Amino acid sequence: MSALLLKGGPTAAALNETTAARAAALTAQGITPTLAVVRVGAREDDLAYERGVLARCGKLGIAVRPFLLDADAEQSELLAVLDEVNRDRTIHGCLLFRPLPAQMDDRAVRAALAPEKDVDGITDASLAGVFTGSGVGYAPCTAQACVEILDHYGIPLEGKRVTVVGRSLVVGKPAAMLLDRRNATVTLCNSRTRDLPALCRQAEVLVVAMGRREAIGAGCFAPGQVVVDVGIHTGADGKLCGDVRFAEAEPAVAAITPVPGGVGAMTTSVLAAHVVEAAEKTR
Ligand code: NAP
Repeated sequence: MSALLLKGGPTAAALNETTAARAAALTAQGITPTLAVVRVGAREDDLAYERGVLARCGKLGIAVRPFLLDADAEQSELLAVLDEVNRDRTIHGCLLFRPLPAQMDDRAVRAALAPEKDVDGITDASLAGVFTGSGVGYAPCTAQACVEILDHYGIPLEGKRVTVVGRSLVVGKPAAMLLDRRNATVTLCNSRTRDLPALCRQAEVLVVAMGRREAIGAGCFAPGQVVVDVGIHTGADGKLCGDVRFAEAEPAVAAITPVPGGVGAMTTSVLAAHVVEAAEKTR
């Protein structure tokens, strides 16, 4: 029996419908939801994601204001941009591309962004909000996208054994925290975890965000399991693939997110929803 494909496209479409309606309601009240996109340099990955953000926001009635700096810009220039973004009441959210160039201190720069405009969950205040559920800031979009897909397909989380592989602040750790808030029992794994396959097999929901191309394969899956593959890599054949060996997982589990077309197809929609929510909070 083949697994149910948990697709990002239909999940995003459902979220986009709500976001567009909320954006239209704001616009009718004279508030145009607006996202600042702050980019230092022109890395191809950033440009590709930026194109996706521009297209998504354009379709949903969200304005985008780019702030572009040269790759050799001083940190003080970036801090001045963030100060402008923070002060501008017509800007509701900010997407800052990282990693930053080597001459900049990531921690200092992240700390300069106002948490209420941190729609991609990069500030410590946002991460604390994910941890405490205080409502300050926003969860990192990719981590939230994992939960949105599970919710869209009606996968129950309460009381479930969930294993999250990877503990980065961008994906694994906040995803684990969001799943914990949904009353799942979460095991969070890292590169020093012993017997990773056993911890994967025991999971009813397995979330893989380890940044290792097709590292999770046969021996890590269990019947009835739901697999969320966050990884994005270019395979030896030039095609996109994930952290999970899809061909080995798909016959062995109940449901799985494809790559491409899974979590990655959701992130700009979550970002757009956060911008609209931030704009609503200014009413
Ligand atoms: P990352 O910062 O490189 O973190 C990888 C994590 O995996 C680390 O916590 C690391 O543990 C852990 N890890 C590495 N090898 C492991 C092993 N053998 N066993 C258990 N844990 C292991 O990566 P990331 O930024 O979280 O991204 C993860 C993946 O998601 C990447 O493939 C990335 O391309 C993808 N991604 C996708 C989207 C999207 O929109 N779909 C967005 C962001 C990222 P340590 O902490 O011990 O080093």
